[in-house]
Amino acid sequence: MSWTHEFKEALKNNQDLKDFFGCDFPQVNYPVFIPRVFAAKILEAGPGSPLWNEFLPHIDENKDDGRLDPIGDKVHAKNNQLIHRYENRVLFTPTTVCPVLCRYCFRKNELSAKDEIFDQKFQEALSYLKANSEVNEVIFTGGDPFILSNEKLATYIQEFSEIETVKYLRFHTRTPVILPSRIEEGLIAILQSSAHLFKRSMVMIHVNHVSELTDDVREAILLLNENNIEVFSQSVLLKGVNDSTEALYDLFTALADIKVKPYYLHHSDEARGAMNFYVPLEEGRKIFAPLHNRLPGWALPQYIIDIPGGHGKTPAFNPESFEFSGNLITKNGEKVKII
Ligand code: SF4
Repeated sequence: MSWTHEFKEALKNNQDLKDFFGCDFPQVNYPVFIPRVFAAKILEAGPGSPLWNEFLPHIDENKDDGRLDPIGDKVHAKNNQLIHRYENRVLFTPTTVCPVLCRYCFRKNELSAKDEIFDQKFQEALSYLKANSEVNEVIFTGGDPFILSNEKLATYIQEFSEIETVKYLRFHTRTPVILPSRIEEGLIAILQSSAHLFKRSMVMIHVNHVSELTDDVREAILLLNENNIEVFSQSVLLKGVNDSTEALYDLFTALADIKVKPYYLHHSDEARGAMNFYVPLEEGRKIFAPLHNRLPGWALPQYIIDIPGGHGKTPAFNPESFEFSGNLITKNGEKVKII
């Protein structure tokens, strides 16, 4: 089945879910979208599994705690499909469409409201990049850029390559995990040409649990690798999904085995409608700390936190010289309060 057919035939509402899974789900304030091949994997994993928790609606999504824009996208949005948070790189948001709707998504409020940061203003985005030569990297995000047609993707890449100061491209995507059939010849050719047009062109796969790495997904990722496309991963620390040292160890080991460099482990964001996935920072640090002993540096991602309000990313993990609450531990074991 082609990926476009899989996409079209996805489960899109509570009745579809009931027919497919054979049980009722609560009505929540956010839309539902799950391709059927992927839904079959969730069904096999069963209720309470990481896959079930990540993708099926939960009544707690209707609670109104958490932030509408937890990482401050709007603070840095340029109203031209670009979010310029760091000096030398921008996020480019060409679509609101995703291959699946993740219940924990930090951008779920912006995406379901079709926020203006996704407005189609590509020419304005190009002008902005030309006028801001300090930007040397464009990061495709969304939504999910691999949901765009090959033609559209190729056009964007070509246009960016004509701006001399843009040297690096990155694609943030969940698609290889949800719709591995999308990793087909046409897309591979586009990514290979991107690797030639830029100094580096990288694919960052979003994956949170080892059970997402089924055989078809591993094959799709290896195909990228065999075609000399650089692949990294990013994951989010999520309650009920991967909030244990063992779960993270299994995930990063499996990624390393298929030649993916684990890049970031994001601390959970305080997103409205997703606070049921939130892991407190102290707990996250305790979960992450033992991985330093168990994994080599090349298989260990950086554990980072986006400071709420748009202040950007900072390491979430305190090195061994700090206790988990953040106090410095001196060489003779004294705790020193850090303010
Ligand atoms: S694919 Fe990414 S942007 Fe889309 S719903 Fe999932 S986490 Fe959010």
